[in-house]
Amino acid sequence: MADPLSLWNGGFGSVEVRRIHSFQATKAYTCPGCHHGIAVASGHVVTIPEHDPELRRHWHTPCWARQERQNAASMTRTRTPSTDTTSKRRSTP
Ligand SMILES: [Zn+2]
Repeated sequence: MADPLSLWNGGFGSVEVRRIHSFQATKAYTCPGCHHGIAVASGHVVTIPEHDPELRRHWHTPCWARQERQNAASMTRTRTPSTDTTSKRRSTP
């Protein structure tokens, strides 16, 4: 698949998020978050990876919000530096 969800997990760096108002939604899309359709004339968001605008995707607003929360959570997890206790525990087989 061209766009596994990992693409949205911060792998792209910054992603521009634009809000699409219902009157702007003139086409139906498939949301990568839930794989359900986004109906014509329903407000949603479009995410545009800064480095690869071709891979922009349309999301249900709540689905993107959930994805963003997950991203924030995983970023916090990776940003947490491995403490001395962790490395000590790891070096002991
Ligand atoms: Zn969705």
